[in-house]
Amino acid sequence: MNTVTRRWLQRLGGFASTEGERVAGRLDAIRAGYVFCGILCTACVVLDWAILGRVTLTTLPARCVWGGTMVLLGLFSRTPPDEQSWHATIVAVVTAFCFPVLVLQTGGAQSPLFFWNIAIPLCFMAIAHGDLRAVAVSTVLNAVGVMVIVGSGGGGLVKAALWGGLSVIAGVTGMYGTYAHHRVLQAKLRHERERAETLRQLAESERRRGRFERLALLGQLAAGVAHEINNPLAYVSSNLRYLEEMGARGETCAPEELAEIHRESRLGVARINQIVRDLMSFARDDSSDADTRSSTAEVVAEALRLGRPKLQAGVRVIDEVPAQLAPVRLAKGRFVQVVLNLLTNAVDATAATAAPNGPELRLSAREHEETVILHVEDNGPGIPEHVLERLFEPFFTTKPTGLGTGLGLALCREYVERVGGTITAENREGGGARFIVTLPMERPASLGSVSGPGVAA
Ligand code: ADP
Repeated sequence: MNTVTRRWLQRLGGFASTEGERVAGRLDAIRAGYVFCGILCTACVVLDWAILGRVTLTTLPARCVWGGTMVLLGLFSRTPPDEQSWHATIVAVVTAFCFPVLVLQTGGAQSPLFFWNIAIPLCFMAIAHGDLRAVAVSTVLNAVGVMVIVGSGGGGLVKAALWGGLSVIAGVTGMYGTYAHHRVLQAKLRHERERAETLRQLAESERRRGRFERLALLGQLAAGVAHEINNPLAYVSSNLRYLEEMGARGETCAPEELAEIHRESRLGVARINQIVRDLMSFARDDSSDADTRSSTAEVVAEALRLGRPKLQAGVRVIDEVPAQLAPVRLAKGRFVQVVLNLLTNAVDATAATAAPNGPELRLSAREHEETVILHVEDNGPGIPEHVLERLFEPFFTTKPTGLGTGLGLALCREYVERVGGTITAENREGGGARFIVTLPMERPASLGSVSGPGVAA
């Protein structure tokens, strides 16, 4: 099925994906209805010939005006043929003139077409799509037309009034049907708008939740970050002070010493720069990032740099992630958040470890079929069975109030599953916990074709 056909079917079937598409689909259906009715109206000239018993052009002008108006409105009108438009009313007026002409041309009140006058307001109920004004205009003009036909055929005032009354009854029924249709349509539109608004709010609150957890993680690192920056800052400023004092004493620095001071200071500034850049890129909301792939080794290195303040407390980190792994289908910022969360949890868990070698974290990764599998292991106390069951539940935490939000692992799972990956946890045989993150590879061939199932990852 090609794209155009699918879009048409989506529109007409009412399962278009956006409200705009649904509205456009409804208007397209109304336009198509006009064109169809216009062609049918004109083609019914054959009916006139059957009634008259001969092929004649007499009724063709009225048929062409009637049908042509509908076709032109359906095909060329630039304003949308919705309930606020005059399309249906124009058709009602043209019908009110053309139909009596046709009836009179095919035998007046004796013409089989005459009995159609009852059906006309009802037909409008179907094609006016909730436009009450058009049905009312059609009812009034149609009743007048019927009375003119009956009167001109010598039917008398009473008979004309009787037919006019019947026509009005049919019109009122049509008006009621139109009103009910209008109400249903409005309710449906309201429901769709509310649904779209709810989805928008949901996406927004999800984005905020991710940002909240991100900032909470940053908060945990903040104290250590200050210390991280202080170190290089201290030796950069001590170097500058040394140079200042030398200058004040009128002494000159030996070129080798100056080069060493310069090298040391540059390293310090580069380190501060790196820390600030990492923090800023982590704090940035990258949910709209176009690049949805990342390198596991780079992500782990960045998470380790960011987590350094927390890891420094005597934690041994073994990074065994090979640099040449295939890229994975997860935006870098999100992936760093996942790894950083696993690292901070592991540090918290190993804080009181009784292992002889002290706290230890191990990160390793490998390719398996079309995925990259990352292991984050620690030698902490492991995860109790009752915690393991609820580990990924939002707001589940065993940490004291103010320290844990319980959102970290829930978000990790959300980010990973959105791109078709998985995250699980288990206890290691030798003690400690192991988190396994499996992510689909993003092969260059599939670039641009897959970026997660429609949700900003
Ligand atoms: P938070 O860290 O805010 O508590 P998480 O969703 O990140 O929220 O973690 C939920 C819970 O999972 C933690 O409170 C902890 O009990 C448990 N947990 C996570 N990682 C480990 C680990 N490496 N070892 C033991 N327990 C863990």
